[in-house]
Amino acid sequence: MTEVINTQCCIAGGGPAGMMLGVLLARAGVDVVVLEKHADFLRDFRGDTVHPSTLEIIYELGWLEDFLKCPHQKVNHMEGVIGKENITLADFSHLKTQAPYIAFMPQWDFLNFLKQKASTYKNFTLIMQAKVDELLVANDTIVGVKATTDDGVIEVRSSLVVAADGRNSDVRRLAHMDVLEHGSPIDVLWFRISRKLDDPSAVFGRIMPGSLMVMLNRGDYWQCGYVIKKGEYEALKSQGLESFRKKILENAPSLKESIHEIMDWEQIKLLTVKVDFLKKWYKDGLLCIGDAAHAMSPVGGVGINLAIQDAVAAANILACPLAADKLNAVHVAAVQERRQWPTKIIQFMQLIMHKRIIYQALQSKKDFKAPLFLRAIAAMPVLQQLMGQFIGMGFRPEHINICNK
Ligand SMILES: Cc1cc2nc3c(=O)[nH]c(=O)nc-3n(C[C@H](O)[C@H](O)[C@H](O)COP(=O)(O)OP(=O)(O)OC[C@H]3O[C@@H](n4cnc5c(N)ncnc54)[C@H](O)[C@@H]3O)c2cc1C
Repeated sequence: MTEVINTQCCIAGGGPAGMMLGVLLARAGVDVVVLEKHADFLRDFRGDTVHPSTLEIIYELGWLEDFLKCPHQKVNHMEGVIGKENITLADFSHLKTQAPYIAFMPQWDFLNFLKQKASTYKNFTLIMQAKVDELLVANDTIVGVKATTDDGVIEVRSSLVVAADGRNSDVRRLAHMDVLEHGSPIDVLWFRISRKLDDPSAVFGRIMPGSLMVMLNRGDYWQCGYVIKKGEYEALKSQGLESFRKKILENAPSLKESIHEIMDWEQIKLLTVKVDFLKKWYKDGLLCIGDAAHAMSPVGGVGINLAIQDAVAAANILACPLAADKLNAVHVAAVQERRQWPTKIIQFMQLIMHKRIIYQALQSKKDFKAPLFLRAIAAMPVLQQLMGQFIGMGFRPEHINICNK
């Protein structure tokens, strides 16, 4: 027999968007069920940049001290090497926030932290290994979901279903939402490699003629992202691992002593970069947030933080009507209204970076010079601070403003 669960809000996906929305709604007295298809949060690297905007929200919730007890690295500026020039791209240290830096923390630690906070609320339920694979529809309104678990199929019936199931969202596909694909000329290969303690600690991007690599300081290792032209992965693989190791060293000679650690293609994960945007983030009974509403490029490391901003905006707008069983279509539409333009601006900037800098660098055969606007940033600390504001806080930073029952 199918188990039936009745709740006020059912969230598909326990990523940053789903877990943050879940805990915020539970905190405001809403009965909430989060369904996550995996058994735990321990998965491949999915980005671990917790930006000042997210840290400020954690502070507003009174959790910052606890949060910073989880292992992390702090970075208060972003550096890059373009050709032969060393450039500071963004400075977060002047932000007027409690934590004016990026905290690098594995995403699974962040999600476990949210889970632990959420578990203090009796009205919060997290069901792991529950894959949403069907929508329940009555009178053209989505009234819940069916999910497959190890113990069989469950039905979760709710006033609102939130799709927070990421860039390949099953829920948005099942709901036939219209997606605007922006495309991307690049993919990224992620891998990790040992870091010497005296290596520089800032976020370290290196753009050389024909190659681009990002190196994120994770304490005793570098999380590296080697950028390739879209669709080039199979050709690169066919040239063999030794050729790939050489390409990495051409970009980052400092990895000479540790490059032998890359011994198998299994150590390298392909991220197919895509940038898209749902024309409408909602339908009767359904709201999409985070990557399910707008898949982000990894440029700027903003995906997690925009997902959190969506969750906070959604909780601010929806918690009271949900708790009072007075939710209507206007409330749900207001979430897209609030979050769409800050998201569109960031996606626009990412697409410009793809075209004007990253792709140009990958195409170039001789010395690649930083474009004028990057050189202007490098020369003017005030522009570095402005970039710190855009990247660190986004364009419409959300604050916790939720009714508490
Ligand atoms: C390799 C890689 C590197 C990245 N690097 C960065 C970075 O450095 N910084 C950054 O900010 N962003 C980065 N991103 C992007 C970032 O991970 C996402 O933007 C962010 O995680 C979006 O959060 P989300 O909660 O919307 O979706 P996700 O984090 O994708 O979470 C969705 C969740 O839904 C679950 N799910 C999926 N389908 C179902 C289903 N049918 N039923 C139930 N559960 C389901 C998934 O298991 C997952 O846990 C990176 C992404 C990738 C893939």
